[in-house]
Amino acid sequence: MKGLTILGSTGSIGMSTLDVVARHRDKYRIVALTANRDVDGMLVQCERFTPEIAVMADTDSASRLAKGLSQRSIATEVLSGLRGLEIAASIPSAEIVMAAIVGAAGLLPTLAAVRAGKRLLLANKEALVVAGHLFMGEVEAHGAEILPIDSEHNAVFQCMPDDTREGLKHCGVKRILLTASGGPFRTLPLEALATVTPSQACAHPNWEMGRKISVDSATMMNKGLEVIEAHWLFHAEPEKIRVVLHPQSIIHSMVEYVDGSVLAQLGNPDMRTPIAHALAWPHRIESGVGSLDLFEVARLDFDQPDLQRFPCLRLAYQAIQAGGTACAILNAANEVAVDAFLSERLAFIGIAAVVEETLQRIPVQPAEDLETLLDTDRQARVVAEQVMQNRVSSSGIS
Ligand code: NAD
Ligand code: MG
Repeated sequence: MKGLTILGSTGSIGMSTLDVVARHRDKYRIVALTANRDVDGMLVQCERFTPEIAVMADTDSASRLAKGLSQRSIATEVLSGLRGLEIAASIPSAEIVMAAIVGAAGLLPTLAAVRAGKRLLLANKEALVVAGHLFMGEVEAHGAEILPIDSEHNAVFQCMPDDTREGLKHCGVKRILLTASGGPFRTLPLEALATVTPSQACAHPNWEMGRKISVDSATMMNKGLEVIEAHWLFHAEPEKIRVVLHPQSIIHSMVEYVDGSVLAQLGNPDMRTPIAHALAWPHRIESGVGSLDLFEVARLDFDQPDLQRFPCLRLAYQAIQAGGTACAILNAANEVAVDAFLSERLAFIGIAAVVEETLQRIPVQPAEDLETLLDTDRQARVVAEQVMQNRVSSSGIS
């Protein structure tokens, strides 16, 4: 029986993880669950999985949760804040930690799991985008094990040789082909992008996900973040990572070898597959995902990404080439801009513009230590807000 902590258990990945765990109660035991402010969602999960601890982001949510638990006579201990998240991430009774908080908010708790030497199921790609170099150094130093949950990276992991630490060339890999659906606006006339709404952006054609990653998929910043993620996870130079538009989301990514072989991982677009893979690796367990019906799929299409339609993808490649704190700036500006778009303070096409201008305004520094990265994250959020203010005051619209 393996103990499991889920950071971000009330979200899309968190709930899919609990769905897989519920199918294997003989193999996995929930030790800790964490959420932001969804007290009702957390109460339901605690009732069903009786974790040792549950963590809420703030003290108010935590005390409401504690009250609800005591009314139901559930003995789960309630903690709050960053300290609570770090305790959940490093608790000795959990061998496995699912990192599924969204955004840079997940960085410190995810790092706590790394430093405790856990098997880390990494969904929180922003943690690697902000602090990739430092993060991978900590993984090495503490003997942690990372299994990628992002469907593309999980697919690449399944198609890769065992050890890529010496670099791709060393193990005969020519390049990584990261597939991308192109999101809901792949074929929308360019001029219509100016007026798309948050609900249109969140209506992904193939995947059901949280709102932030759904918007990232619509701008293709998600794929940009994934290029950065792949760079760190697989020790791959950015020019060895190619993005391939594949609207059906059936091939989750591919690895091309020097002998001309291309290995792909296919499956229905359902995150329970990579979750089950990573939970049980190197074994296989059922995930609840149905068989892929190739006759129903019938065809698989591929295309080049259009960088005019998707400037965020270009910005992400530029940030990784710039190195240092550039990816932390890119990520923070994107989080601020996406949040503003979701609350209808910024137009969809303003997202890339805000990220680009924030990158132009902040000088890139070497990203040696956590303090520098956290300072950069804070600074980029302030600058991105200023950029948005200026856009509104100079044009009257965002
Ligand atoms: P989501 O918004 O559905 O869930 C996020 C979870 O994090 C929730 O439990 C929420 O309560 C918690 N949370 C949010 N802000 C927090 C904060 N400040 N402090 C503490 N907890 C906080 O997001 P999601 O779609 O499940 O995505 C989670 C992560 O997984 C993201 O990094 C995303 O990029 C990645 N990912 C998601 C999918 C998917 O299919 N949803 C696929 C690949 C990767
Ligand atoms: Mg992905």
